[in-house]
Amino acid sequence: MANFSKRLVSNIEGNFFVDSTCIDCDTCRQLAPTTFVEDGNYSTVFHQPENKTEESEAYQALIACPVGSIGVLEHNDFEFTKAKASFPMELETGVLYNGFNSEKSFGANSYFVEHPEGNWLIDSPRYVKHLVDAFKERGGIRYIFLSHEDDVADASRYAKVFEATRIIHREDLRALPEAEWVVEGEDVVQVGPEFSFIPVPGHTQGSLALLYNNRFLFSGDHLWWDPIRGQLDAPSVLIWDKEKLMESLTRLLDVPFEWVLPGHGHRAYFEAKTMRGYVKALVELRA
Ligand code: SF4
Repeated sequence: MANFSKRLVSNIEGNFFVDSTCIDCDTCRQLAPTTFVEDGNYSTVFHQPENKTEESEAYQALIACPVGSIGVLEHNDFEFTKAKASFPMELETGVLYNGFNSEKSFGANSYFVEHPEGNWLIDSPRYVKHLVDAFKERGGIRYIFLSHEDDVADASRYAKVFEATRIIHREDLRALPEAEWVVEGEDVVQVGPEFSFIPVPGHTQGSLALLYNNRFLFSGDHLWWDPIRGQLDAPSVLIWDKEKLMESLTRLLDVPFEWVLPGHGHRAYFEAKTMRGYVKALVELRA
């Protein structure tokens, strides 16, 4: 829980505040953009919630914050409980954002896909009973897909409870040497008719994207939506190989998808044709 004595002076007066333990992971700004804004190396409250929707979103941010940097002066038990119950949060039927981002992955987003042949966890949230129970209610986890070495977090704890198969690329295997399914090389791996693993080396050598149903691209830290500039974006720092990153971006021109669901950065939905246009624009910008 946040500490009022560490409250950032940049917070506007009012109930919600951010303290100096913030790691600037962006999670709160994604969930409650009318309340939180980036300010230097932190997030801060620039507008206090004024209605139920804004208050709900601010409580969702408080719960998802990986380091407990968001606090309130007066706790609203009802809104807190409601916000907690909203996770995992359905983005579309059967595709969910988990919340409870983990400090171990620098606050990366993780996702859950319900599927009749076994559910998928994509990257790992914090290990919390609330999510364990929620995953049990939905039939457990069959596969845990790790987009790259940075976002493993508590994958092994979830794998142990659900006897799930952990999937990671050979080149990032050092982060999870006990993984049951090791993806090799740079060829696309088709898994049944609906899932494919797409190697996208660049940010790390073993970065992978998961394509589901030719609609949902779980992109790890390879690709995300930038709502301020209104464009897709990709890493410009922390890159293993810049040329490989460009190849991996270009590869996405041939991948049909409508949702980009990243680890870091904003998620977004556009019709496939529009999304491809954004991928093309990014490739041209980076060329
Ligand atoms: S979610 Fe928490 S750690 Fe992340 S930017 Fe917001 S306040 Fe900071």
